[in-house]
Amino acid sequence: MYDCIVVGAGPAGLSAALFLARYRRRVLSFHHNSPRNLYSHGVHGFLGHHGIMPEELLARGRDEVTKHGGLIVEGCVTKVERIADEHFRVSTGDEEDRREADGQSFEARRILLATGLRDLTPDCPGFPDFYGITVHHCPDCDGYEVSDKRVAVLSRGHEAVGFTLNMLTWTDKLTLLTNGDEGDITDEHLAKLAHFNIPLNNRRIVGLEGDVEKKLIERVRFEDGEAIECDALFFNLGTEMSGDLHEQLGCELDKECGLVSVDEEQQTSVPGVYAAGDITPHSQLAVVAASEGAMAAIHIHKSLIPEERRV
Ligand SMILES: Cc1cc2nc3c(=O)[nH]c(=O)nc-3n(C[C@H](O)[C@H](O)[C@H](O)COP(=O)(O)OP(=O)(O)OC[C@H]3O[C@@H](n4cnc5c(N)ncnc54)[C@H](O)[C@@H]3O)c2cc1C
Repeated sequence: MYDCIVVGAGPAGLSAALFLARYRRRVLSFHHNSPRNLYSHGVHGFLGHHGIMPEELLARGRDEVTKHGGLIVEGCVTKVERIADEHFRVSTGDEEDRREADGQSFEARRILLATGLRDLTPDCPGFPDFYGITVHHCPDCDGYEVSDKRVAVLSRGHEAVGFTLNMLTWTDKLTLLTNGDEGDITDEHLAKLAHFNIPLNNRRIVGLEGDVEKKLIERVRFEDGEAIECDALFFNLGTEMSGDLHEQLGCELDKECGLVSVDEEQQTSVPGVYAAGDITPHSQLAVVAASEGAMAAIHIHKSLIPEERRV
């Protein structure tokens, strides 16, 4: 019986595992090599590690966890169930078809879900050539890097307008692209965009072009053959959970954002089940995920202290 099974070994899961191991807890972590920022060229804004390559940050984290006695296993958790109070079972299986039959089972007194999110990405030719270097989704992560540059924003509806106005923090050379789907953009929104001289372009996109070798986007091509020049593109098409483990356990979701609700101790609505990182309703940053993981570990440890050691 492990004290805690951590599902996910991104910044949230690894940070939690490190603290749990330092509390000398029996901790087992799972990951299947799919951190959200796989395509990033550097983790920005992580104090003391600004610009570190994501895989380097995670490799160092895994090393720190295992040096403290934590176990990390590469495997996909396909099933998680509550057997009784303080008793959970986790099963691994095939990542693609999620069969439980071919997996192994592990038991723990606490579960920490740190499974992250997946970004919904544009389905247009050229996107993979530039993603993470000059095509981004997160202004908090990469806004500074496009200061005073020509930036195209690809999004739809009123959220597109808010997202684009936010980009004025770094540059006023902006164009909003809706790829033929304006959504619920109103006259009021159009007036706001016009006030800041931000053109709205509704044409359908047929591809992103540029220096593929250096991963530098140079223009967005439309179906009528025209193009606009740009130095970077930001998209805002939403995210999805990377699995259904929270559903299997019956964790409540935040009514506004649909992510896993947690209390001030990072505990979900299911006693003994904690959540940290991008799957909770806070800023989606590596440093925030790491901090939530540490918070979760502190409270998991405290919850496991036997009654006779409490005053
Ligand atoms: C392109 C890009 C660039 C970014 N740049 C920055 C930046 O510059 N600065 C910054 O602070 N943030 C950045 N972010 C955001 C940052 O990557 C996330 O906030 C952070 O990775 C969240 O950490 P996490 O641990 O919650 O989730 P993740 O890092 O996504 O890790 C999730 C973990 O869960 C595992 N997992 C999921 N499901 C299962 C399962 N069923 N079984 C086993 N394991 C499972 C995965 O294998 C992975 O180990 C960027 C994101 C992207 C996409």
